[in-house]
Amino acid sequence: MSRNTELFERAQRVIPGGVNSPVRAFRAVGGTPRFIQRAQGAYIFDADGKRYIDYIGSWGPMILGHGHPEVVEAVQRAVLEGFSYGAPTEREIELAEEILKLVPSAEQVRLVSSGTEAAMTAIRLARGATGRSKLIKFEGCYHGHADALLVKAGSGLATFGFPTSAGVPAEVVQHTLVLPYNDVAALEAAFAAHGAEIACVMVEPIAGNMNFVRASLPFVQAMRRLCTQHGALLVFDEVMSGFRVALGSAQSIYAKALPGFAPDVSVFGKVIGGGMPLAAFAGSKEVMGKLAPLGPVYQAGTLSGNPVATACGLATLKLIQRPGFFEALTARTRELVEGLTGAARAAGVPMVGDCEGGMFGFFFPKPEQDFSAHPGGLPQNYTEVMATDGPRFNAFFHGMLDRGVYLAPALYEAGFVSAAHTAGDIAATVAAAGEALRG
Ligand code: PMP
Repeated sequence: MSRNTELFERAQRVIPGGVNSPVRAFRAVGGTPRFIQRAQGAYIFDADGKRYIDYIGSWGPMILGHGHPEVVEAVQRAVLEGFSYGAPTEREIELAEEILKLVPSAEQVRLVSSGTEAAMTAIRLARGATGRSKLIKFEGCYHGHADALLVKAGSGLATFGFPTSAGVPAEVVQHTLVLPYNDVAALEAAFAAHGAEIACVMVEPIAGNMNFVRASLPFVQAMRRLCTQHGALLVFDEVMSGFRVALGSAQSIYAKALPGFAPDVSVFGKVIGGGMPLAAFAGSKEVMGKLAPLGPVYQAGTLSGNPVATACGLATLKLIQRPGFFEALTARTRELVEGLTGAARAAGVPMVGDCEGGMFGFFFPKPEQDFSAHPGGLPQNYTEVMATDGPRFNAFFHGMLDRGVYLAPALYEAGFVSAAHTAGDIAATVAAAGEALRG
């Protein structure tokens, strides 16, 4: 029996499903999850000692690759000074200053420990700041597992959603309106029906939880215009896209295309912690001033601003600002996506892909799916992504895993390239893809 199988059996006895976060269980693709023993650079090593080229990177944080020496040193230094104090530290200020320098839409930021916590609090803040209850989210966007956000679309445009999890009472999601992504007409209709009650629109500007789908420019423009018109806050959930698709995050890309564009509140995680539990939400002084201890919106955390996590995040944010960092990461990621789609073309398998900075996605369209008239020739929303070829994705995933390439184990997840991935790693991945697609 392989050590992975042995560990999975043992894990299932003491941990529900054997995992501490569901997607790790390989339920979507089948098979035995790999238990990871260590990681270095672009590679992870499983309990059987097998090496994989890692395109998950802890689902986004490991933008420098695993175990970057300067980050390791910063963490080691911090650990020696103490794990946690429950009192303010200078490093929290430094990290806040660094984030705000890179994200000019925000004036103040609060640090928390997970993306879930950050998104949940951003909504409480939007509700507290506007005195309204309703919020709009989009199908296929994930914002963590706060009760009000575990919602799927109801039937009909202006219908409020249904809980997607047991344990979430319908009353808790009755204020959450779920709309299709990239659908300007649906958004306009929702604001026409409920405009005066909407506290915020929350969106992943480049969505990484329905594979990789960009918000179109008209969609971003409409969100901004309607929020401003109706006094709602536009909340960009950049937990995944933040400091990952560009140094200034996805909002900097939209601000380039739409001069003056800015969200009201931003949510960050993943890269800002460099692999440690750290997330944040940020906004104007006026909005952030509503938070305790200054204002009436309560939020707190025993480990918020943790000194070891902030050391890791700070070192990571400093390194990604080195000249040429994002240009090189972008080029490498593009090389991968072009390589994969090229390998598919050579194998006669339909595949489309997209990327931005160090984040990417690829899809296997079914024969009846024609994306050629779509922007970029790509799926534009959750329904289209979920209608792509699941069995083909699963076979590809396992074909790649067998060949030492670790992709996200579900067709609705994005992938991540790090600065540690070499041209050789990409070439090896593309060669493996050629074999897996023909196999
Ligand atoms: N928002 C987005 C966009 C995410 O991708 C995630 C996690 N993948 C979260 C929020 C939740 O973050 P966490 O898992 O740290 O709670």
